[in-house]
Amino acid sequence: MIKEAKHIYIQTRKVVAYRGLKRNPSWEHDSRLWLKDHNECAATGWTYKLQIHHVLPFHLFPQLEMDESNWIVLTENPLFEAHFEIGHNKNWREYNIHVRIDAMMELKRRKDSKGK
Ligand SMILES: [Zn+2]
Repeated sequence: MIKEAKHIYIQTRKVVAYRGLKRNPSWEHDSRLWLKDHNECAATGWTYKLQIHHVLPFHLFPQLEMDESNWIVLTENPLFEAHFEIGHNKNWREYNIHVRIDAMMELKRRKDSKGK
């Protein structure tokens, strides 16, 4: 978990470097703590390879970086990369403003198909 949170931090830092935006120094610590209490992917229920995704992205809404209401946990499990597919519409340059609904629908679809 700690390793994953660190991975996000490094990845995001690279992405925003060219815009001159600096990550909040508390991001790594706070996001790691938050993941301990939010340890399931919103789209799959999986607890593996979790990332915190910013619903409204950091590079456009840096003021929401540390706002937990802007965070959602999505997996990067290679079996189904919810972070990429649902959070970013399969394009890292995009973001899905309907990510919460789409993740909920995906979770429901998975639960329903299990019950059959
Ligand atoms: Zn993301």
